[in-house]
Amino acid sequence: MGEMRLDPTTMTWVISGEEANKTKNHSHDCPFCPGNEGMTTPAICEVRENGNWRARVFPDINPVFRIEYNEDREAEWMYDRMKNCGAHEIVVDHPSHGVSLPAMEEGAIACALEVYAKRIEDLKNDKRMKHVLLFKNEGEFTGSGIRHSHTHLVATPIIPKRIEQEMRWAHHHYARKERCLFCDMVRQELGAGVRIAAENRAFVALCPFASRFPYETWIFPKTHCHAFESAMKAEDERYLLSGIIRHITAGIGAITPHYHMVLHNSPNEKARFLNGDGKTLREDFHWHMEILPLLREVKRFNWEEEFFVNPVRPEDAAGVLKGGNVYEMVR
Ligand SMILES: [Zn+2]
Ligand SMILES: [Zn+2]
Ligand SMILES: [Zn+2]
Repeated sequence: MGEMRLDPTTMTWVISGEEANKTKNHSHDCPFCPGNEGMTTPAICEVRENGNWRARVFPDINPVFRIEYNEDREAEWMYDRMKNCGAHEIVVDHPSHGVSLPAMEEGAIACALEVYAKRIEDLKNDKRMKHVLLFKNEGEFTGSGIRHSHTHLVATPIIPKRIEQEMRWAHHHYARKERCLFCDMVRQELGAGVRIAAENRAFVALCPFASRFPYETWIFPKTHCHAFESAMKAEDERYLLSGIIRHITAGIGAITPHYHMVLHNSPNEKARFLNGDGKTLREDFHWHMEILPLLREVKRFNWEEEFFVNPVRPEDAAGVLKGGNVYEMVR
């Protein structure tokens, strides 16, 4: 049984003593395919159409975070520890095996986006959970073993370090200027146009100025909004986001089959820590998706020290991803 320990020198939580992926699936059958539902844990929810499911959600069979635990924060002299309480769910995005995002119909991606939003909203009802992380790993370089499109949702009593950093600097920007850092960035990038990879009425995809990975792309809603789940309530927004995701993943897919897609979303406003802190969260945080392609396996040094060397200029990456005319996407 594992626990979480806080490193006081970096304020990073480490999961200690937990063996991830203890049991491997040795069967040749894909546990995510229709007909093999018995190979997974029972479904939390399914979107059904004509008697078949279009998307399916169930708890990960080997979670690192466990919902039945309580945080049980304890001190050991100067050190802090707590139980690895949380939830880890898998969303199977599409019933067909081996279908990747660009090959899915816009309606199927829009359906998956609706499922993600509903699950995030539900997981945020648990006040112990400060954040719900959504990510998708495509290709072996990302560590993904199952070639059936799926997405992870991980609710945790801590905020992931990179999102905490973004919150801190976005808040710093807002405190000085009373403007959202991300809205400022989007406005400037749309004005300059050199790093824009795709655009439509509601969303813009851009290759960030200081991209860590070749062809790294961030997708932002053009209108300020802190929480993904509230934006995804509108069907129109779900379709427009699907269109951008398809366009970008098709462009990246032509370069590499390996990429991470991560949602940087607002933390849980119902969680206890926000009493006092995070008063301007709705104004200063702006949700977005980050797509991080891997052209080769990333060296440990890069991950651990956050010191990235990227051979592709983001301006060139945007040019490749937008293909012909960026304004083709506008509608
Ligand atoms: Zn399958
Ligand atoms: Zn904003
Ligand atoms: Zn981000």
